[in-house]
Amino acid sequence: MAPAVKSLEPGTLVNVVADDGRSFGTGYFNPASLIAVRLLDPKPDAEIGEDFFVERLTRALARRAVLFDKPFYRLVHAEGDGLPGLTIDRFGDTYSLQFGTAGMEKLEVPLLSALKALLSPECIVLRNDAPSRAQEGLKSEVRLVLGDIPGRLPLEENGTVYFADIRGGQKTGWYYDQRDNRAFVASLAKGSSMLDAYSYAGGFGMAAARSGAREVIAADSSQPALALAEEAAAANRVSGVCKFVKADAMEELERLGAANETFDVVVADPPPFVRAKKDLEPGAKAYRKLARLSASVTASGGFMLIASCSHNISMERFALECGIGIQRAGRTGAIIRQAGAGPDHPVHPALPETAYLKAIVYAID
Ligand code: SAH
Repeated sequence: MAPAVKSLEPGTLVNVVADDGRSFGTGYFNPASLIAVRLLDPKPDAEIGEDFFVERLTRALARRAVLFDKPFYRLVHAEGDGLPGLTIDRFGDTYSLQFGTAGMEKLEVPLLSALKALLSPECIVLRNDAPSRAQEGLKSEVRLVLGDIPGRLPLEENGTVYFADIRGGQKTGWYYDQRDNRAFVASLAKGSSMLDAYSYAGGFGMAAARSGAREVIAADSSQPALALAEEAAAANRVSGVCKFVKADAMEELERLGAANETFDVVVADPPPFVRAKKDLEPGAKAYRKLARLSASVTASGGFMLIASCSHNISMERFALECGIGIQRAGRTGAIIRQAGAGPDHPVHPALPETAYLKAIVYAID
């Protein structure tokens, strides 16, 4: 990198020009980042102001309006919505935002103006506390920029009510990415016993309970997450069939396996085991172990979903490790669904590697 380029302030807007003078458009630059430039607009010298954001947000909204009949979804999924470095999750009139890059953070003012002009939000929270921000030289903060946040914010997905803590909860407060996978699991769960390992606020478990599971155990290491799940159980009138267990999920799976307990439906949706490329081998082993422990507590004729939200492991490798895990549990089965995130997490066609979520559902013999 030429010294003049290196000295550009992180997040500076630049024109990207090829050696032969051809223009790639306008983007923002960060000399400290491995991804030096992220493109915002195919036009050179594009003005990245309120109008730009209104146009992008309008497009993102139009897509969601076709997909969802309730205002609960990821409104902006970075590159997939033409806004690299930006995530917006919508909870009715409340918006939880995350700036992932210095370039997007610099554009906070026109972005917020556009959001206010277009959607008249009641509340906006900046959840700028993702660890990955450090790589961009950004500080960690949670900031309320508009309105008041109620302690717990209701949301609805597939007819199930949940509660998100958008100020203190994980990520932006809710994992909308699993919506379709939750609906699929719920469709298998009528009359079943179900174990929701790494339940967070009850995403899979409460959907299963509402679709008629006779017993649901939600296990997570976070008491605040379990408290949200418990509230969701009450709101969906399924408290009678739900139990909440604060535990390390692998330890709990081991304990249940040793006690010969089985469940008709088992979900294991852990935090990322492969946080960086260098963690691939230990992370892959952890997925293998998780699949082994989960398969060993899945009833014969039952179903098991294992998920990975690590973009640093491919679907192929993840499926391989899960397959070995099932075999090591002494079980057999078949894949009946292989899926990623829902359609409010669009993927830029030139960046297929940004499709981070992988969920595999097995029918276990
Ligand atoms: N399945 C959830 C999302 C899970 S996110 C949903 O549908 O929304 C991962 C969860 O794993 C978080 O709630 C986190 O608190 C929990 N977690 C992290 N480490 C854990 C561990 N060792 N044992 C149990 N839960 C853990």
